[in-house]
Amino acid sequence: MAPPLIGLTCYSSVGPDWIQHTPNHYMDFLFRDYSLAVESAGGIPVLLPVIEDLATVKSAVARLDGLLLTGGHDVAPRLYGQEPKPGLREMDYERDLMEIEAVKEAERRGLPILGICRGIQLLAVAFGGTLYQDIFREAPDCLDHNQKAGKRVNTHTVKVEKSSRLYRIIGAETIWVNSNHHQAVKDLPADFVVTARAGDGIIEAVERPNYHYLLGVQWHPEGTWREDEVSKKIFASLVEAARKRLKDQG
Ligand code: MN
Repeated sequence: MAPPLIGLTCYSSVGPDWIQHTPNHYMDFLFRDYSLAVESAGGIPVLLPVIEDLATVKSAVARLDGLLLTGGHDVAPRLYGQEPKPGLREMDYERDLMEIEAVKEAERRGLPILGICRGIQLLAVAFGGTLYQDIFREAPDCLDHNQKAGKRVNTHTVKVEKSSRLYRIIGAETIWVNSNHHQAVKDLPADFVVTARAGDGIIEAVERPNYHYLLGVQWHPEGTWREDEVSKKIFASLVEAARKRLKDQG
């Protein structure tokens, strides 16, 4: 059987840094860590740029065996029923709409879905949850979740629920993770559960028990996939779920 095809959404650059040089020429890109982590886990990584025609997004997802939502800018608050507040940072509304369509289609087709950083937030919003627009203002007693260290360094702990899929994947209750986010999931969609929190209570992982594989993590396992066993297991679990779905479909 051919290795499963894992679609990875892209980061985008639409803000002042980029457009002052080339106005209105936006850029979709992905840190290579993500694709190498998927490849190393036995999947074939394919990059999905922002696609504006939502019917084309559906057709693209129809060709995939798994979906990985990557990190990036803030999700537009209007998508979870809020006005923008101070502390909100750069957004890409076209990316938001494209990823929500991709998630909905992936769910309809029963694809395994992994969300990383912005990806966990996008998952929450796509299914009816809400976000903290800026945890440093809205949850001021929180830890420093914007670590002053590179992505390969794990800086804070996370406590994992023992009854969760995440626990079954990684086999550990307390883990060290990296952290590079100023937003976090606030209210969960109806059929989601929290499966890991940081010491300050900030949600660091969610999943949907009534679906075979839907997992969101607030940290960046792609930053540590080469040396960190927990990170390797997360990517392996996504590829394995995709492989199993392929096999079950015959
Ligand atoms: Mn964190």
